Amino acid sequence: MTGMIWAVQDYTKTFDQVRGALLGGAIGDALGWPIEFLQLDMIRAGHGPDGMTDFLRGPDPDAPQQITDDTQMTLFTAEGLLRLSPGIDPAPVLGRAYLRWLRTQREHAPSPMPDGWLSSHQFLYARRSPGQACMTGLGLQEKQYTEPAPLGVPGPINPDSKGCGTVMRSAPFGLARFGPDLAFLMSARCAQLTHGHPTGYLAAGAFSALIDRILGGVDLRNAVHQTLAQLTGGPGAEETVQAIQRALRTADEGDPTPERVEQVGAGWIAEECLAIAVYCALAAERTGDLRAALLLSVNHSGDSDSTGAVAGNLIGAVHGLSALPMAWAGRVEGRDELIQVADDLVMNFHVGDRGTLGSRYPLDATV
Ligand SMILES: [Mg+2]
Repeated sequence: MTGMIWAVQDYTKTFDQVRGALLGGAIGDALGWPIEFLQLDMIRAGHGPDGMTDFLRGPDPDAPQQITDDTQMTLFTAEGLLRLSPGIDPAPVLGRAYLRWLRTQREHAPSPMPDGWLSSHQFLYARRSPGQACMTGLGLQEKQYTEPAPLGVPGPINPDSKGCGTVMRSAPFGLARFGPDLAFLMSARCAQLTHGHPTGYLAAGAFSALIDRILGGVDLRNAVHQTLAQLTGGPGAEETVQAIQRALRTADEGDPTPERVEQVGAGWIAEECLAIAVYCALAAERTGDLRAALLLSVNHSGDSDSTGAVAGNLIGAVHGLSALPMAWAGRVEGRDELIQVADDLVMNFHVGDRGTLGSRYPLDATV
């Protein structure tokens, strides 16, 4: 036969980026967790003038580095998406995925018959300062999503909450190739499962849209500007717009420092957490030093594990797993499962081949 050209798409880069996003997040989470509640001067007093410069060494140097609710919930976001039938409202399906996460925070071990492969992993049952709005918000909806009653639209949950619990779990919406508009909408809608303040869910939507653009090949700065344009003028978007603008401005002021991170924010609230991630990703671009940028994302007085997780998601998506410090990527708790879920996202959403994924992610067809 002549004249036939088979275009075989190469997904190598996509695998690297999606793995990088999940592993990068876990690295930042694990770096930040020991100093989550410490002020910068305390971090410096305890760890030296540069603050944390590496994973802490416990009594067992080979023990995995602990991850927290940020990475745990991110895995359940990915699981929810992998169990979502096309064309179905994502909120109830993601709601049930987050309820599976909630179970891990209430129980000590997987049940004998866990609902899906992800819930079968013991490491997810560790409770490490989970966000209150996530716990209470999901607790309120337990019956709504688990009993066979008509669902209805979720009412406003925690209408005043704009904690970073939305942003820190929302990278997977941007890893699934929905396109920036749909990634934004799905992410913001599912953020409302726990956080009803517009900034809480719009910052999550913006983060997912930003990640989507990076996966789509847009460079970081343009992706940030396009995401700003997407947000600007939308109802309730002012705080998120201002925070991202602050990150851009601060990045242009000079070399990255913890003091400049603190100018951008503390990260306990959603828009600041996103802005710190943008600032640290821009720092990685400016210096070419990803290791330093990941450390920058945790060495400050704010919510170090969440800012580390979100910055790690973004830096990992931009540069790929192959560019992350291997000594760190190899040592995070849940490493193999994070790689598996990353690859499953690529197979399902990019390659479009569910193959045997149904055994790990039975479709949640409940409406
Ligand atoms: Mg945490």
